Amino acid sequence: MPILSCAHVHTPYCDGKTPAAEMAKRAFDLGFLSLGFSSHAPQTFDPGYCIDPAREADYKAEIRGLKQEYAGRMTVYLGVERDMLSCCSTEDYDYFIASFHYFTMPDGHHAPVDAGPEQLKQYVDACCGGDGLEMARQYFSALRDYVLASRAPIIGHFDLLRKNNAVLRLYDEESPAYRNMALDALRALAGTGALLEVNTGAMARGYLSTPYPAPFLLKAWKEWGGEVIVNSDCHDVRFLTTGFAESEALLRSLGYTHAVRLGKDTLWERFSLT
Ligand SMILES: [Zn+2]
Ligand SMILES: [Zn+2]
Repeated sequence: MPILSCAHVHTPYCDGKTPAAEMAKRAFDLGFLSLGFSSHAPQTFDPGYCIDPAREADYKAEIRGLKQEYAGRMTVYLGVERDMLSCCSTEDYDYFIASFHYFTMPDGHHAPVDAGPEQLKQYVDACCGGDGLEMARQYFSALRDYVLASRAPIIGHFDLLRKNNAVLRLYDEESPAYRNMALDALRALAGTGALLEVNTGAMARGYLSTPYPAPFLLKAWKEWGGEVIVNSDCHDVRFLTTGFAESEALLRSLGYTHAVRLGKDTLWERFSLT
């Protein structure tokens, strides 16, 4: 059964390129049964990337308008992608995605994990003694702690740091040291009920040929009884379902028989991958 849903969609309220109404129309035309908007939550820095705190109410109102417009035909959800540094409450949202996008530099500035590689390299040099593996350890620890503390329903792009490692080669992704630290962090999240996101955003944008997280993590998650949700982290309507077919095939090859998506009538529903 095709996925026919996406819970990770950005809008021009943050760094998304496609207006929400156009995104919803495309999803409906594709036969989606549900669509969840999840712009980057308001924060006090990097304003071009997140919802302006003064416009959060407008974001909510626009998505709620689409909810009404498509009622009975496609279920639209109001979500948000949140960092531990975000400054909005999750109260009014149907769900949220917990992600880690920024390290904090000693001078208080923030170094994005997934923006230009030079910014991440500066952080590694300034705060990790030049050791990429130490940066990875900090990344996984912080994401793990945030997911646990926030009781997040979705773990966003668990190994996002792979994006810049493809350029910087800060550590060996095949090494036991790296793999074990990633597995340890993920193991701590098994049993929380959080959905592990299979995120195809870097495939759509041409940075990686496989989704986050790497197959060894998806394999372990399956063995621990974890559930997954496939999302395109869509910033541009042309890529709303990019990587979905590849992700379904990957999940099947790892033994997954079903995945979870936003439901038509209930917030989450399981569906068969076979
Ligand atoms: Zn993200
Ligand atoms: Zn995103």
